[in-house]
Amino acid sequence: MTSTVSTSEKVGESSGARGQDVDRTTPLLSVRDLQVHFPLKRGFIVQREVARVKAVDGVSFDIYPGETLGLVGESGSGKTTAAKAVVQLNKPGNGSVKFEGQELVGLSTSAMRPVRRKMGMVFQDPYGSLNPRMRAGDIVGEPLKVHGLADTKEAYREQVASLMTTVGLSPAMAERYPNEFSGGQRQRLGVARAIAARPSLLILDESVSALDVSIQAQILNLLQDLQEKYNLAYLFIAHDLSVVRHISHRVAVMYLGKIVETADAKDLYERPLHPYTQALLSAIPTPNPVHERSRERIILRGDLPSPLAPPPGCSFSTRCPIATDICSQTVPELKTLAPNQQAACHLATSV
Ligand code: SF4
Repeated sequence: MTSTVSTSEKVGESSGARGQDVDRTTPLLSVRDLQVHFPLKRGFIVQREVARVKAVDGVSFDIYPGETLGLVGESGSGKTTAAKAVVQLNKPGNGSVKFEGQELVGLSTSAMRPVRRKMGMVFQDPYGSLNPRMRAGDIVGEPLKVHGLADTKEAYREQVASLMTTVGLSPAMAERYPNEFSGGQRQRLGVARAIAARPSLLILDESVSALDVSIQAQILNLLQDLQEKYNLAYLFIAHDLSVVRHISHRVAVMYLGKIVETADAKDLYERPLHPYTQALLSAIPTPNPVHERSRERIILRGDLPSPLAPPPGCSFSTRCPIATDICSQTVPELKTLAPNQQAACHLATSV
């Protein structure tokens, strides 16, 4: 199944993210029918394939310059595997990944190097993703050296100082080591490193999940400021719909390797059409105590099934509160049910 996030309109007021309108004329990143399958092998002497794990199974989406696509789903749904396939850290078994019009699938490591310069990555763990033996300035400046972006030592020092200032850190902190920074400051360092080579796309993999809520808000504000300033596009991965709400223009919900719903952020939060999205949204507490008391939670049965043995038919059928006979027999296709909103559910209807 192929699930596609694509429109030809402009969004702004109606989106979850603040900032300028997104021009959806030409996608920066275009992913089509992406498949990442891992073979499961057994045998002591001769190993043979006994099964295939369909970690990502026919995912498609577009991201436009200056746009944030929130990619949401439980742990094990395939979000990170899909992101790694975008930057070719996982080799897709099938599908197409076009960045600035260039096909990346099949590119050699050396041919990928200049492309990687334009794709920054920020990881979840601000503690583990920074080399503890490197000074902050060297961490931030490393991409400048790797890609030859500073001609002189003076230019290098100036750029490092400017990057640190841009992410809200004092240039005087460049001499410190990562353990001398707080969690939020380390994530700012991670962002500074990710934007050092002047990318046009940042992949943010659970980048604020490990932080306190107040620090999360500061990093999200920083990311939105940077997006406005540099017209950066974000693929923002999170397991929690509440985290991506205010930063995403569009949201795609993944379940067991597939996109099951995608929509402009405002529509998805106001009118979720897929039962899985409805369940995820029902779990988010509201700040209004009156609404909170009357909030109806949809409790999902059981855990995410193993991608080694996905249920037949709809992959959500074992946990869906409204499943019927057809659900375990036929795979639902991703259908357009409203302008800019698609869902893969037999029972979801047009609105
Ligand atoms: Fe639930 Fe059936 Fe829709 Fe799947 S197709 S989400 S099981 S109602």
